[in-house]
Amino acid sequence: MAGGFGGPPPMGPHGFGRMKFDKNAQKPTITKAILFRIAKYFIPYWKQTILVMLILLITSVLGILPPIIIQHIVDTALPNKDMSLLVYLVLASLCTTIISGLLGVWQNYLNAYVSQKIIYDMRNQMYVHLQQMPLQFYSNVKQGEVITRMTSDISGVKAVFDSTIVSFANNLFILISTAVTLLVINWKLGILGLIIVPLFIIPTRKMGSVRWSISKQTQEKTSEQNHIIQETLNISGYLLMKLFTKEQKEFQNFDEINEQSTTLKIKESMAGRWFMMILTTFTSIGPMLIYLYGGYLFFNGEITIGAIISFVALLDRLYAPVGQLTNLYINIISSIALFERIFEYFDMKLTIKDRENATEMNVTHLDIEFKEVSFAYKQDKIALQNISFTAPSGTMTALVGPSGAGKTTITNLIPRLYDITSGSIKIGDRDIREFTLQSLRSHIGLVTQDSYLFNGTIKENLLYAKHDATDEEIINACKAAYIHDFIMELQDGYDTVVGNRGIKLSGGEKQRISIARVLLKNPEIIILDEATSSLDTLSEFYIQSAIQELLKNKTSIVIAHRLSTIMAADHIIVLKDGQIVEEGKNEELLKQNGLYTELYKKQFGKKAVVSIE
Ligand code: ADP
Repeated sequence: MAGGFGGPPPMGPHGFGRMKFDKNAQKPTITKAILFRIAKYFIPYWKQTILVMLILLITSVLGILPPIIIQHIVDTALPNKDMSLLVYLVLASLCTTIISGLLGVWQNYLNAYVSQKIIYDMRNQMYVHLQQMPLQFYSNVKQGEVITRMTSDISGVKAVFDSTIVSFANNLFILISTAVTLLVINWKLGILGLIIVPLFIIPTRKMGSVRWSISKQTQEKTSEQNHIIQETLNISGYLLMKLFTKEQKEFQNFDEINEQSTTLKIKESMAGRWFMMILTTFTSIGPMLIYLYGGYLFFNGEITIGAIISFVALLDRLYAPVGQLTNLYINIISSIALFERIFEYFDMKLTIKDRENATEMNVTHLDIEFKEVSFAYKQDKIALQNISFTAPSGTMTALVGPSGAGKTTITNLIPRLYDITSGSIKIGDRDIREFTLQSLRSHIGLVTQDSYLFNGTIKENLLYAKHDATDEEIINACKAAYIHDFIMELQDGYDTVVGNRGIKLSGGEKQRISIARVLLKNPEIIILDEATSSLDTLSEFYIQSAIQELLKNKTSIVIAHRLSTIMAADHIIVLKDGQIVEEGKNEELLKQNGLYTELYKKQFGKKAVVSIE
């Protein structure tokens, strides 16, 4: 197949800068509840956080010393030609700078420590939470979204700490210490310097809104972009794209989002520029006014030249933090939004969880009993209705029915991948919700049609079922699953890497490995979804033999697509549109001449029916 994207396609109708921005993108509300919730994450690191604040306080005071020292150099050391005082003052200035620098390094370490530890805690908490989310969540969530929240969103917490909390404290300390010093040096000049401050604050709110809305849209676009990457650049997506020759179409989708996100990024980086320009103008007006008014005071003998120089040097320490603090509003709402995104996941209910008084599954027999079970994936669409049957301990129950009848749904309800809407499912006369999920699932082995193998060696995939299995146990399981000889023929034997989702193996081989995996786990209940695809006679033989080994002496529920399995079943349940329409043994059902017979003829041909009859 001609690969590649065949050169860059045309740019498409959407030119850069064409996009409109939704200025009303919803801003988060800053509530006490969310602030408390954020603060909770800092509690374990309160000592380090307080230390950071203390260091900031000390460095803000130390920062005032060099301009004051300059004042003494200009006013005392230089006019008096006092060399030793000059050396002393220069050294003092140097020392304060070095101490500030060292403290700064320490503070950086503490910053990194606190933020990274919080990120660590959150990631762990999120991972465990996501592990417990019901299957339904993964059916609905967009590919890539979980990764975005786990990685970039949570990593954003570092920026929240640095640019919001630390930046706020730092700038506030600098502002207050400088303002007080200015007023002490000369209150008249001090007031003049401070008068300009409010001018910085006025345009801030407007700027905040614009930047907020752009950054929110940027985030959304990033997430969309990740989604496309995840959907198309993985094995299944890639195959789909290639086989339907959708490269161009997918590229266009990608290009569109990429372009929108680029436009947004350009807007984002330009959004503060005009504002910054105005700020810079204000900042340069300040010193001029000081020189003007300070010069006037100097002529009147009210102030020294050193004081004026020191004043102008200090002004910078006054305006820079005001500029930063005005941005703080944007940082705060962005931070809150970030935490809201993270908390949104934490707030998703774990619908399938252990009951408070859940116990180990300790039952005397393993009859699986469905009693008037109904289930709906979505409220208005019932997938199973009034299902009642018993799968007796140690027997095989086959589920048969057209596609979409609800067979998989029934099997998913037993290990509680979904919880039933009404009715009850019992194992050994006890409702499965009375058991801990861990213990319930440890008694069940599931072999699905699309056997999932992760990208590791065959051995690693097998050990997933029993981490401490010996080589002998592994080999025995593989022999029983009729896959050992095949594995031994491979160059690396059990150390062969299977590729993403086991792509390097055929469907039949994958299924036999997953049967071996369940054999190693050795659960009492087996749920098997037989492969529908037809296999060659030899593979078919191997699979059937492996399945026989798997089901020996077990309580099993099998979604049956094969004649041999149906024949071997102790009980057959025929489903249609989420309801049981017929049940019994093969011969009994064939006599009824109903849906079962119809399905049977379709799948195995009329001859098969005749030969059985
Ligand atoms: P079968 O295994 O018999 O082919 P399923 O149990 O997979 O049938 O599906 C039964 C019904 O439930 C179908 O209508 C299907 O569309 C629906 N369904 C299956 N899985 C989901 C899901 N995750 N979310 C919503 N509906 C689903």
